[in-house]
Amino acid sequence: MDTLGFDIGGTDVKAGRMGPNGEVREETRFSTPVDQPPEELVSQIANAVRKLGSSLPVGVACAGIIRARDGFVAASPNLPQLRGFPLRSALEQELSRAVAVLNDANAFVLAEVRTGAGRGFHDVIGLTIGTGVGGGIVLQGKLHTGRSGYGGELGHVILDASGRLCACGNRGCLEALVCRAAILEEYAAQGGRNAADPETVAHRAAAGESAAIRTWDAIGARLGLGLGSLANIFDPELFIVGGGISKANELLLKPARVTLEDAALAPTDQLPEVRVAELSNAAGWIGAAAQAREIE
Ligand SMILES: [Zn+2]
Repeated sequence: MDTLGFDIGGTDVKAGRMGPNGEVREETRFSTPVDQPPEELVSQIANAVRKLGSSLPVGVACAGIIRARDGFVAASPNLPQLRGFPLRSALEQELSRAVAVLNDANAFVLAEVRTGAGRGFHDVIGLTIGTGVGGGIVLQGKLHTGRSGYGGELGHVILDASGRLCACGNRGCLEALVCRAAILEEYAAQGGRNAADPETVAHRAAAGESAAIRTWDAIGARLGLGLGSLANIFDPELFIVGGGISKANELLLKPARVTLEDAALAPTDQLPEVRVAELSNAAGWIGAAAQAREIE
């Protein structure tokens, strides 16, 4: 059966209809209603469901701290109007059926396992690195979010208790050490010329600039420590790294594999692969559509 997926972002809602083998049948998007009560968003999603295939299972991904158990939005930095909103029950009431609700990083990992870099793998850990760091855990093909559904926030694994302050309030989280701002700070510390964004630092590294190369070595090394710790906990088959920063590709992953190997306890030939994500920004709705299959 086909399923429908939605990805609620700060500026627009991406949506689509996916076939049983991950085929993208149809894609659409509409503007996120801002400065309006969350009920307006719910009714716009319901309208889109009617257009895309009204009787099909629906999954909805949303940025923020989502309690996966019941789809309650505890916080959503880009969508402050959703804070404290029972998103799943509101959608279920509007659509008169069960709906899957998950956070956008979890949706990203599921999408990559279903149709991207993780095809054919069953135990996969995903990280999306950008302004922040989102995470998701897929064990035996299923999303693992813990007792209440707040689990999988891998960006807030603490690597250095006295490290850089994180947006979450803790110090030295993986997010605080490898996010966009951390990359630019590291580049400045390495003596790099003014750079507006990490893409510029990546271009300069690719062109052989030593401050830029040292920056990616340092950031990749920190990422690898996080991956090594996660490998020791989960023993996954594969790590998938996505988000804007993953465009740095091997500049980031090569040093990460080195510290991953150092930090992990398993024999080297048993360590998980590390790959960059394959899907574009459609991953959110595709992952939500994949999770819709789990609705009983
Ligand atoms: Zn944090």
